[in-house]
Formats: sequence, C-alpha cells, structure tokens
Amino acid sequence: MVGREQVERFCSLTERAGLESVRIGDEVWVLASASVPCVLRPSGEKQYRLWALERQARGEEIDEYMEPAIDLSIPERARLAEILCHQPKDLSDEQMFQRRIEAIDLYMALRGFIKPEVEFELASDPLSDPFPLLMNENQCPECFGDELLTLGERAFRYSLPTKRNDHFDDHHLEAKERAEQLGQLIICKHEKCKDVKLYTVDHFRNHVESVHTIALRTSDQVQQRRARKLKLRRSRNSG
Ligand SMILES: [Zn+2]
Ligand SMILES: [Zn+2]
Repeated sequence: MVGREQVERFCSLTERAGLESVRIGDEVWVLASASVPCVLRPSGEKQYRLWALERQARGEEIDEYMEPAIDLSIPERARLAEILCHQPKDLSDEQMFQRRIEAIDLYMALRGFIKPEVEFELASDPLSDPFPLLMNENQCPECFGDELLTLGERAFRYSLPTKRNDHFDDHHLEAKERAEQLGQLIICKHEKCKDVKLYTVDHFRNHVESVHTIALRTSDQVQQRRARKLKLRRSRNSG
C-alpha cells in the first residue's frame, strides 16, 4: 500500500531529479522495504531497468537511456497508463484506493503478455502464413484477426489460456453478447473466416474451439467469474 508520505516523497524526488527521470511507459512501483517508490523502465532487451530516483536525486550517473517499445493499443496497457498519468485531483480516498487496486490488477494482467518471437520470424518470411487457422492456445481469437492492430499485437501470446480468457471476457465478450441480443451475426475476425456465419456466442465458442483450437470459457464459467468479481467488488466497497 502506498502511503501519503511515500507519494509526497516520490513527487519531491521526481521534481528534484527533473522531468527526465520519468517518461511515458515507465512503471512506478513501491517495493516492499523501499522508502520511496521506484521507476521501472522496460528496456529494449525485454528486461527492466530499475531506476532508483534517489540515485538520480543525488546526482549520480544513470545508465544511458534506451527507448522502450511501448504500445498503448493493448487495452490493459492504455488503461494503466491513463491511471498512472492522469490522476484527477478531486478523487475521494475510496476512489484512490479503487484506482490502486485496478492498477495492480492491470499490471498483473500485463505480466501475462509474452512477445511472440516465433510469429515475428514467420511474418518476416513471405512464404509462411503469419495467421494460420490453428492458433497457439494462448492467443486471443479476436485480436488475432484485428487488422487495426500491429502484427505483434495480433500474435500476442498470454502466459496461460486463463489469462487470455480474462482478456477476452473483459474486452471482447460483451460486444458479442450484445450482437446476439440484437439478432446480429457474431463475427470471427480471423481473415480465413470471412464467410463464416455464427448466430450465437455459443456458436462462436464452438467455432473457435473446433477451427482455431482456442478454448474460451463456457457461458456458465463466465457467469461464475462475473459473480465472483461482483462479490469481490462489494466486499471491497463495504470493507
Ligand atoms: Zn483480444
Ligand atoms: Zn474463425
């Protein structure tokens, strides 16, 4: 938990170190025993550089800066950046608390992302198909066919199918449920499925499982997860 003291100390150190010390894409973390939050900066080699603001405030040499590869079109990352960079002034303690919880949840979700090196290699070979029908079990069927995303985003692999399902349920499922309620066709965005007609979300689930080997949650499992989330939110609000 971030205390007021730590936040004030962080702000004053940031000021003393100058604007150079924090950049878009940095992650601000409070380590268990640290007296001041640290800035974690993703580096080019997919490692994190630990930037201790205190070192910078003391005027010590800091390693040369490497441009981070930050892509805000991943919904979880865009939301996390929004929470970290745009803090409304008039938030109540409870709202601040909820934002912190959300930031931690988002960070944990983002940790599930693994860059798909294999797909990048395939994509660079003009003879290979970067988007085959058989997907990796950790990829998102919706992002996979989304031509507005970069190749890397489309081929993203989560660390586990359950992480991918969290992402799918939080970002894509509601639109599909709405389409079903309105009697519209449910679309599989995969470029090889343009002629596939699906009428319900369950059809879609069956389709992605049989054609793309992706096992999404069943509607029962989705309802159970929603009930758990609701219960958790209520207990946070009352506690
Ligand atoms: Zn997705
Ligand atoms: Zn499909």
